[in-house]
Amino acid sequence: SSDEEGGEEYLFKIVIIGDSAVGKSNLLSRYARNEFNLHSKATIGVEFQTQSMEIDGKEVKAQIWDTAGQERFRAVTSAYYRGAVGALIVYDISRRTTFDSIGRWLDELKRIVLFVSNVDEEAHSDTTVARMLVGNKCDLENIRDVSVEEGKSLAEAEGLFFIETSALDSTNVKKAFEIVIREIYNNVS
Ligand code: GDP
Ligand code: MG
Repeated sequence: SSDEEGGEEYLFKIVIIGDSAVGKSNLLSRYARNEFNLHSKATIGVEFQTQSMEIDGKEVKAQIWDTAGQERFRAVTSAYYRGAVGALIVYDISRRTTFDSIGRWLDELKRIVLFVSNVDEEAHSDTTVARMLVGNKCDLENIRDVSVEEGKSLAEAEGLFFIETSALDSTNVKKAFEIVIREIYNNVS
């Protein structure tokens, strides 16, 4: 959409999904506020954070949504996914069960994004969602339970970007979000 000076404004909705305790809330707080919480609980009342970056001299805003403790399978509502053009699908490299869940989260994302775009008259049916597979807690190398190769090959098979991050020591957190935001920008511009 155009602003008054004739330039362009971008606002992209991005969702973070994945099993409980993989570090979704901390990835967001690290990216948006440079904060980490060792004993984080589901944040009550805060649904999303907005963060800006510059691409091609334009201000691009990302509205990043956190499930805030609703991550039981199929408990995440369609309202959460509505309008999303990007997704970070997160597992914990020290807990294999969270990696085993990725297939279900991908199915859920496809099912609901398709459903929402079919019922929502304003949405385009050709909605593309930029998807990043995120192996979080890479600082826990000593208790690693999922190899980098496994993460890479799943991402390749599903056509996702892939990155390992640590919300604790900040490794690749900014990069993970910015790759997704750039990809969305490329998809729409
Ligand atoms: P969520 O349920 O997916 O939102 O997970 P949280 O962000 O609440 O994190 C769950 C737990 O994992 C908390 O105790 C965090 O301190 C911890 N945690 C989150 N990210 C990391 C990380 O990158 N490394 C380590 N070692 N712990 C993390
Ligand atoms: Mg959380």
